[in-house]
Formats: sequence, C-alpha cells, structure tokens
Amino acid sequence: MASIFSKIISREIPAYIVAENADFIAFLDINPLAKGHTLVVPKIETDYIFGLQPETLSGLMLFAQRVAKAIDGCGFAKRVGVAVIGLEVPHAHIHLVPINGLHDIEFSKEKLKLSVEEISTIAEQIRSKFM
Ligand code: AMP
Repeated sequence: MASIFSKIISREIPAYIVAENADFIAFLDINPLAKGHTLVVPKIETDYIFGLQPETLSGLMLFAQRVAKAIDGCGFAKRVGVAVIGLEVPHAHIHLVPINGLHDIEFSKEKLKLSVEEISTIAEQIRSKFM
C-alpha cells in the first residue's frame, strides 16, 4: 500500500507543498513543532532513510539545503534544525524545524495549532523564497 507521503506526491491527498522537483518534494508537517516545520521527502518510497541509494540520500540532503535556505529567508527563527525520526511514517523524510533553542525541536512536546490562514501564509512565504 502506498505511504501517506506517496499519496501526497500523487496528489491523492492534499498537503501544503512548498517545493518540488522530479525526485523530491517538501511540504509542511501537519502537526508542526514550530511555524515553518517542513518535511523533505524522496519520491521513491523507502522506509528507512539509510536504506536509500547513496545518490538519493545525497540528493535529498542537497534538496533539503535549498528548502532550509528558503525557510531561513522567512525569518521564523534563528536557524533551521534538522532531524530524522521515521517512527511514524514508513517513508524516508527529513524534518526541517525553525529553532531558537533546544526545546523547539523536542518531538514529544505539544504541537502547534495553526489556523488554515496561518498555514497557507507560511507555505506561501516558503514557496516564494525557494530557489
Ligand atoms: P516520523 O515518521 O516519526 O518522522 O513522523 C512523521 C511526521 O509526519 C510527523 O511529524 C507527522 O506530523 C507528519 N505527518 C504525518 N502525516 C502527515 C500528512 N498527511 N501531511 C503532513 N505531515 C504529516
């Protein structure tokens, strides 16, 4: 069965997509730790990030760098933290989380509740900075 992220890639389910190319996609996390929390995902469906082919893993990181620069450009926080968890969705992905301190990237903390307007604005800001 296709992963939830493959369904986003195929547009079967909606997401706030902020960047995409032939091999990778980035969209806002549905339960964000911080404004601008974004997931960067290879289109090829592999559960474990370290199970990716080396060229896919390096391409994913380079794509994540471009997305992180776009997020940085939005000024949500001091910098963009990077994490790989992978315990919930069995489709490799990188979390990019705007952070001012350690507590901002604590995955067990309560997630933000944002309005649709706020989420749309955040997505548009990141999209407009992506190069
Ligand atoms: P993990 O696999 O532990 O790295 O966590 C998966 C992440 O994917 C969590 O932060 C979820 O909030 C996020 N997530 C799950 N479903 C969706 C979705 N449909 N759209 C965006 N983010 C999602």
